[in-house]
Amino acid sequence: MTDEQISIFYNSIKESITELEKSIIHLEEKCKPIEPSISLGRLTRMEALGEKGINEAILSQNRVRLDKLKSSQQRIIEGTYGKCLQCGKDISEGRLKAVPEAMVCIPCKEKKS
Ligand SMILES: [Zn+2]
Repeated sequence: MTDEQISIFYNSIKESITELEKSIIHLEEKCKPIEPSISLGRLTRMEALGEKGINEAILSQNRVRLDKLKSSQQRIIEGTYGKCLQCGKDISEGRLKAVPEAMVCIPCKEKKS
């Protein structure tokens, strides 16, 4: 990959990190314990708890993705970005465009699953 391509990936990863961090803060706010005394309006407590469960699931997914994006950013700095962690070959650009935080190439990913 050229430096120019790398910098495009770096910027898009940086943007995703900023977005994810914002959404994580927002979700953390929503996942605070529901106080029994709080007025939920038309929403019943059960519905509020259900929604909280969904938000918690999204929150944990976002945290995993954030970790991956941050380590991709680290790999760009170290100059190892775009190399498959399994076989050491270059991960295709198309895959990186779709999944910038990808750590393994498609053949290795398919072997694993
Ligand atoms: Zn591979």
